[in-house]
Order: sequence, then structure tokens, then C-alpha cells
Amino acid sequence: MSALDQDIYYMQQALQAAQLAEMQDEVPVGAVLVINQQIIGSAYNQTLTQCDPTAHAEILLLQQATKQLKNHRLLEATVYVTLEPCLMCVGAMIQARIKRLVFGAYDVRFAGITRYESLLKGHNHRFDFTDGLLAESCAEKLQQFFKRKRLKSTKLRLNEAK
Ligand SMILES: [Zn+2]
Repeated sequence: MSALDQDIYYMQQALQAAQLAEMQDEVPVGAVLVINQQIIGSAYNQTLTQCDPTAHAEILLLQQATKQLKNHRLLEATVYVTLEPCLMCVGAMIQARIKRLVFGAYDVRFAGITRYESLLKGHNHRFDFTDGLLAESCAEKLQQFFKRKRLKSTKLRLNEAK
């Protein structure tokens, strides 16, 4: 498998994790953590389920992986996530000293890495990142989710109007 094929494979796994979020009516964002071509952890957004604004896929993933490896540093880790990480998650990945980040869809509102790239350069730990991998599939998942949500709320309002 080429390096790109590997990246695509892991991003597909992240998309499957996002699917689990969607089934729980959570915003469908999924992530997997890979070390030496092995998936160490997989997580998805659970902000509603856990009633926790910090329960983003990436944060849960880092917690899971560090506990499992009994090491708060993830020096060899590559994180695959279906949506561009927010600033909080980028911060957490710096703290965890990950090696590389690969993300799918771009986040125009909370863009953590593309918008703050210059800020990151000031940090003593930097990691490489690859952006926009399977961006269309990742974005489509989110768009469909929000479209359904909007439809639902319109229907609700219509019922209330009756
Ligand atoms: Zn985040």
C-alpha cells in the first residue's frame, strides 16, 4: 500500500467512527489514532451524550490512546480526523506531542490549524499536517446531518404553528 492509500484507509476508519456519532444524533466527526500502522484508538464526537463541550473526537481519542499506552506523550502518533480540528484540539495535540495530523473537511468557522498555523510556529512542538484528505466525503456527511437537522426543526415549527 502506498502512503496515500494508507492515509485513505485510516480516514475511512475515521469516517466510520463519525457514523457512530451520527447514530447518536451527535455532529458526525470521527477520529482514529495510528502508531506504526496500527490503529491504537478510535473515537467520535460526544458533546451531547457526555454533556461536555470538550468531548470532541480528538480529545476523547487522545485520552483513550494515552491511557492505553500509559504515556501522556504520543510521539509516533498520526491522528486522522474527518473535520479540521478546532483550536482546543490543536492545543491538545501539541500537548500530546503527536507526530502528524491528517484531516478531511475544512472548518471555516472553527478552523484551528489552517487559520492559526502561524501561531503554531511559535510552539516548541510542531507537527506536520495533511489537509483535505477525502474532504468531500467528510464534508458531505456533515452537510447531510445539518440538512436533516434543519428539516426536523422546520417541521417542528410548522407543527407549532398549527
Ligand atoms: Zn475540537
